[in-house]
Amino acid sequence: MDDATLPSATQIPRFSGIRTFMRLPYAPGIGTPRPDIVIAGIPFDTAASFRPGARFGPSAIRNISVLLRPSNQFHRINALERLRVVDAGDVLAVPGEIARTYANLEQRWAEFVSAGVVPVGLGGDHSVTLGELRAVAKAGGPVALVQFDSHSDTWDNYWGVRYTHGTGFRRACEEGLLDPAYSIQVGLRGSEYAPGDLDDTRELGFQVLLAQELSSMSPVEVADVIRARTAGRRVFLSFDIDFFDPSCAPGTGTPEVGGPTSAYGLQVVQRLTGIDFVGFDVVEVLPAHDPSAITALLGATLIFEFLALVAVRRAAAATRAN
Ligand code: MN
Ligand code: MN
Repeated sequence: MDDATLPSATQIPRFSGIRTFMRLPYAPGIGTPRPDIVIAGIPFDTAASFRPGARFGPSAIRNISVLLRPSNQFHRINALERLRVVDAGDVLAVPGEIARTYANLEQRWAEFVSAGVVPVGLGGDHSVTLGELRAVAKAGGPVALVQFDSHSDTWDNYWGVRYTHGTGFRRACEEGLLDPAYSIQVGLRGSEYAPGDLDDTRELGFQVLLAQELSSMSPVEVADVIRARTAGRRVFLSFDIDFFDPSCAPGTGTPEVGGPTSAYGLQVVQRLTGIDFVGFDVVEVLPAHDPSAITALLGATLIFEFLALVAVRRAAAATRAN
């Protein structure tokens, strides 16, 4: 392994230095050796329907991410010794200009995907995922979506605007980027605009696990449902931080009470082993409403768990090959 591992926290304090995710190397281009995973910020938030401010999500997640130690206790693996992971900085997001932002984002993501790198996006509001999906699907065809969210984000429009953080997955279906028959939305809850709103997302073909269903399921059972739904497919995992109860993740734009705890959500994610993930993101972290940085820390921890999932899958594949 080359030097894409972390500086030792026992030699250099974790709070020192210029911020990248977990103090990983900063590498704006796909250099050599080729990384396995690239983490990049997408600081765009002007497609939010309520509170703006998620443009500061990437910097908040990076800032607190230095608290994470490299080894994953659950999987007993140090993903950063097994994978080359770099921080590519931020996509050029243009406030108020979603089309230009999508063009920049898709181009950046296409560079990652065409190089065989798994991209991890730091949002930004949830509109950014559509741009990521365009690049991922263009390279390898429609993907299965695993969406953790308190909302379905499958509305048709807000105020006549078709590209918002609440409409992205309907657009993704229309553009043929997703395979809804293998996709699942987890954690949906809250008030609706009209009775039966969630029928729309089921009509698109998504499986739905409501938050109220999660309360009678163990994390292992939830992970099993997700694994069964996505079996054999290339999978994109999009994690809207408002999946969590606002007591665990207050820093977000459209909070919904009555959600899962951080412990529960992390235990579900930890058990998503054996899935062929081709992309990840964490979106809707809004630092202005996150005075203690717990929401950003939760977002950073999710990414830490994503890295372990990729490392565990590759280790298993290498074992089978030997
Ligand atoms: Mn969302
Ligand atoms: Mn949401």
